[in-house]
Amino acid sequence: MQSITTIAECYHTKIITTSPKAKIPGAVHIEFDEHNALKSARDIVKTAIENFPNRGNNVDIPEEQTDQVAGFSHETINYLLGGMFRASYRPLNDNIINGRIRGVAGVVGCNNARVKHNEGHVAMVKELIKNDVIVLTTGCNAIACAEAGLMTPEAASKYAGEGLASVCETVGIPPVLHVGSCVDNSRILIAATAMVKDGGLGDDISDLPVAGAAPEWMSEKAISIGQYFVASGVFTVFG
Ligand code: SF4
Repeated sequence: MQSITTIAECYHTKIITTSPKAKIPGAVHIEFDEHNALKSARDIVKTAIENFPNRGNNVDIPEEQTDQVAGFSHETINYLLGGMFRASYRPLNDNIINGRIRGVAGVVGCNNARVKHNEGHVAMVKELIKNDVIVLTTGCNAIACAEAGLMTPEAASKYAGEGLASVCETVGIPPVLHVGSCVDNSRILIAATAMVKDGGLGDDISDLPVAGAAPEWMSEKAISIGQYFVASGVFTVFG
């Protein structure tokens, strides 16, 4: 990662670091202030806009476009499932108990140069939702799913099994939920904990019909994330 600024020097790209714990020599540092998040975001976007005139003609941006709905934090999922007054995971548990949804899978992680780009990610996620397993995703898997058009509510009727599609249609959510960057995987465990607390499926995360997978993992960080999934009782697969 430290060499990324050296590579960026070959192009017009600016590398911006935001955490005081993760500065990189040669990068522009715009510290993220969580109490003034909007200002930090504006400063970063302004830096990018000011850098735009440096873009040469050797940039190839594909013309294809896809929509995605993102931003499914633990609180948002609670709200979407239960509304403002009954925010909870109860509807999810109920639909697992009545068989419409067969389980929950966290599919996450990197792209790996040893396989065709995104192939492992998209194949696994499509198979899961076809079999009525709702997918929570983060990081590079989320980008792969967005590119494949799996992150709109309309994707449910196109790609998901009948049971999952009917629940997605009722709630108005995609069959694949973008819960954040790859450091937000803990949100998937928070969701699993909320499912245990709501009751009816077991007393421990290991009792739930949940699984985790990193089909194209490559970074050490992915291994440490996988380790805490295993330690939390989640059936975990590394591709
Ligand atoms: S560590 Fe995160 S951002 Fe980096 S390649 Fe893996 S999933 Fe993508």
